[in-house]
Amino acid sequence: MSPTSMPVIKSRPITIAPEIPISKTLKFWEGLKQGKVYATKCKGCGKLYFPPSADCPHCLSTELEWIELSNEAEIETFTHVVIRPTTFQQNKPYTVAIGKLKEGVKVLAWLTGFKLSEIKVGMKVKLVAKVTPEGNPTYEFVPP
Ligand SMILES: [Zn+2]
Repeated sequence: MSPTSMPVIKSRPITIAPEIPISKTLKFWEGLKQGKVYATKCKGCGKLYFPPSADCPHCLSTELEWIELSNEAEIETFTHVVIRPTTFQQNKPYTVAIGKLKEGVKVLAWLTGFKLSEIKVGMKVKLVAKVTPEGNPTYEFVPP
């Protein structure tokens, strides 16, 4: 008998919401609430990190500083998600893009405010910080 044909009863759905420690990245989350998107820059080798890293995996320095990103980005690639994962079932199909910022870091974020037919690789977009209706700080690409 295969496991899928075994008799079962459904248990109630379980929601897991672990608390993630953010003390080392608190400025990033607070920045989003204030409309700012921060990266970290290594004081040792100068490498820029987004999402921000508290330590530098390149030169192993723990001395990093906060840099506010310019918000000016160019779309490098994108995908339109029709078959959404379980946690996004309540959303309409959405577009996710990778944008390269003026500072050189690449950011993966939702792309909103465009018709799908308008979206082109190489187009200019703006990276904005926002707070979702559920109160979670996040960021997305919008028309410049
Ligand atoms: Zn470094």
